[in-house]
Amino acid sequence: MQKNDVVTIEIEDMGNDGEGIGKVNGYALFVKDAIIGDVVEAKVIKAKKNYGYARLMNIISPSKYRVKNPRCPIARKCGGCQIQEMKYGRQLAFKEDKVKGNLVRIGGVPAELVDRVTEPIVGMENPFRYRNKAQFPVGTDKSGRIIAGFYAGRTHSIIPNVDCALGVEVNQTILDCIIEFMEEYAIRAYDEERHEGLVRHVLLRYGFRTHEIMVCLVINGSHIPHQNVLVERLRRIQGMTSITVSVNREQTNVIMGTEIQLLWGQGYITDYIGKTRYQISPLSFYQVNPVQTEKLYNLVLEYADLSGKETVWDLYCGIGTISFFLAQRAKKVYGVEIVPQAIEDARNNARINDIKNAEFYVGKAEEVLPEYCKAHGKEHGGEAMRADVLVVDPPRKGCEESLLETMVDMEPERIVYVSCDSATLARDVKYLRGRGYEVERVRAVDQFAHTVHVETVCLLTKKAQ
Ligand code: SAH
Repeated sequence: MQKNDVVTIEIEDMGNDGEGIGKVNGYALFVKDAIIGDVVEAKVIKAKKNYGYARLMNIISPSKYRVKNPRCPIARKCGGCQIQEMKYGRQLAFKEDKVKGNLVRIGGVPAELVDRVTEPIVGMENPFRYRNKAQFPVGTDKSGRIIAGFYAGRTHSIIPNVDCALGVEVNQTILDCIIEFMEEYAIRAYDEERHEGLVRHVLLRYGFRTHEIMVCLVINGSHIPHQNVLVERLRRIQGMTSITVSVNREQTNVIMGTEIQLLWGQGYITDYIGKTRYQISPLSFYQVNPVQTEKLYNLVLEYADLSGKETVWDLYCGIGTISFFLAQRAKKVYGVEIVPQAIEDARNNARINDIKNAEFYVGKAEEVLPEYCKAHGKEHGGEAMRADVLVVDPPRKGCEESLLETMVDMEPERIVYVSCDSATLARDVKYLRGRGYEVERVRAVDQFAHTVHVETVCLLTKKAQ
């Protein structure tokens, strides 16, 4: 096989990044945007010794899993969605298979056990318009017009699209208003290559329960000329609650600047997960799919199986959202998180919700937990080192082995592992199975329809000695 060869190929499998995989005389080709069951014509763009990558040129015979009229015309170009042209039911099956496959291959969990303990993936009732947050880069097209949209996959070229089908409808109204204002007052969009121009990004947030709207313009400058005019226009949009600017003058891929200036309204919006109220500022971390998040946290609560007497640790707690769910049914919850601002938000959220049995620590979970154990351990006559239930929700890289070791030393009855990358979940499960824990329940939750990402909740229980 050589570069630029054009082949006809039947797609028989899917890769972890959602690409179709087919074989030509035993040579595997990865074809982005091709769907399992398609027969396609594809052009080889990179040929390695045993496998290669090809571009989808033509669908000769469509798969039964292919969506007939894709919702979004730019889904293939845009880097946001990877599998939007695949029917939602098949997306869910793909995600569930990915989790199970990783537990078997990487985790070394016997396939029969994985089949027995895995519960059906929790899908969305409506897999569009689910995101409460969007960050649109702003730029200028070839004819000099202001555009906002999304980056094309793996690049920084902006594909104009103010109505992403995953975001809320009002995003379009807000962006149109900002673009019109910029054109009218000749306010320039930021040019990344030249590091000049003013408006870099627009951050939008929407409270699904409260219908409150936040707009934050990220700018390469101290202020927006004629900003009062913009504010006057934006505040007329129903639900508008917070209008701010964030100053970011750095030459960086980081979107937000550290300084936030309030232009109108308040500096935050409010929203709910379950019964808990949250104040969300432009820099706060907050789950982007509130409907599925609530299902995910209810599952964590179910797996934690609390009676009200337990001491629980919530490691990697963010702004304490899982901690507060657990606190409703536990004696005491301790949260640990590395970002100081998130812990400030967590403490504030505990205060406004009158939650008294949650306590938070700033630091690395793999450092805070061993230090706490040392200070409160049995050798010091303390009881506090014991935990009944440990919950972990680490970033993609999973838990440090030293943390897993401390966790095992604390001898919790149950460990509830929430994971956004089932490969590292499987790696950590392998360690925990080797140290006296067994996988009891596993369930994937689809937080990000049309992307290849999947959340998983896994319950491990201490084996009888
Ligand atoms: N449980 C929260 C957040 C999960 S995201 C929720 O459901 O909203 C993972 C979190 O882990 C992030 O907030 C990140 O800042 C934090 N984090 C990353 N590395 C960490 C570490 N070594 N120790 C503690 N927290 C860490």
